[in-house]
Amino acid sequence: MPRPASEQLLVRVSVCAVCRTDLHIVDGELPNPKLSLIPGHQIVGRIEEMDAEVKHFSVGDRVGIPWLGGTDGECRYCRSNRENICDRALFTGYNIDGGYAEFVVADARFCFRLPDQYSDVDAAPLLCAGMLGYRSYRKTGDARRLGIYGFGSAARLITQVACFEGREVFAFTRPGDEAGQESARKLGAVWAGGSDEMPPKRLDAAIIFAPVGALVPAALRALAKGGVVVCGGIHMSDIPSFPYADLWGERVICSVANLTRRDGEEFLEIAPRVPVKTKTETFPFEEANAALQKFRAGGLNGTAVLLVANTGHPERGEGPHTRSLERTN
Ligand SMILES: [Zn+2]
Ligand SMILES: [Zn+2]
Repeated sequence: MPRPASEQLLVRVSVCAVCRTDLHIVDGELPNPKLSLIPGHQIVGRIEEMDAEVKHFSVGDRVGIPWLGGTDGECRYCRSNRENICDRALFTGYNIDGGYAEFVVADARFCFRLPDQYSDVDAAPLLCAGMLGYRSYRKTGDARRLGIYGFGSAARLITQVACFEGREVFAFTRPGDEAGQESARKLGAVWAGGSDEMPPKRLDAAIIFAPVGALVPAALRALAKGGVVVCGGIHMSDIPSFPYADLWGERVICSVANLTRRDGEEFLEIAPRVPVKTKTETFPFEEANAALQKFRAGGLNGTAVLLVANTGHPERGEGPHTRSLERTN
C-alpha cells in the first residue's frame, strides 16, 4: 500500500484505460522506465487519503490521473508555459507507478476533476487519448480541412471535437479497414479511406496518431501549401526519406510531446459540450495482459478499460477493497 507524501493523494483506483504508450513501455521501446513498474496513466478513482497540504480536493472526491505526473516548475520550459517538455518531468506509469493497481499515489497538483456526466469507464479515455489528442489538434491552428491518420482512440475523440468546431475531417485507416472507415464517417468525417490513398481535396493539416513513420511523407503529399503534419505519438518507426519538393511551400512537420495541465483543463471543458462520446471495451483487472495483447493485435473494438475495482462486474463478488465503492457506471 503506497502512502501519500507531500502534496500527494492516495487514490483507490476504479478503472484504468489502456494506452498505446503502455504497449511501447512494456515492449521496451521507450528508454529508462522505472523498474519494477506499474503501468497505466488514464486512471479514474476516488481519494482515500491525502496529505494535509492538499487544499483543493477532499477525501472521497473522484479524480482523474493523467500521463503528466510532475514537473520541477522551474526549468526554462516550465517558466515558458511548456511544462509538457520539462527537463525533469515525471510520467505516470513510466517514471512513477501507475494505475494497473488497486491504489496509486499522485501529486494532487496534476490531477483533474472529471465532468459529472461521464461514468468512470467513459471518463478514463479522456485522460490521455483525449488530452494528448487535443494538444495535437490545437497544433493544427485554424486548419479547415484536417486529415487524421490512424483511427484509434485519440482520433475518435478528436474527430468529434473537430466536427463540433466546424472542421472537415478526412480519416485515414489501415488500407482495407472498411469497418474503421465506416465508423469514422459515422463520427462525422466527410471522407474516409486507406492511408495509401490521396484525399479528394488538399488538406490544411494532418495529425498522425499511428506509430508508423512512413505516414509522414504520405501525409505531407496530401497537404496544401503552408500545411502542417503533427506527429501525435510518443514513438514512431523511422521516417523514410522523401523529396524536398514535398516539404517545399512552407509545409511543416512537428511532434507533440505529453500534455500541459492547461491542455487537460481545456479538453475537459469542451468535451462535455460537444459532447465527446467514448467507445470502450472493458476487461476485468486480472485480464490486463489479455487487453494489451488484443491491443497489440489490433483487435480492440474501442479503448480498452481495466475494471480494477470490479465496478462493472458486480456478479463476480466484491473483494475487501471494493465494499464501500458505489457503482457509478
Ligand atoms: Zn497515453
Ligand atoms: Zn520544468
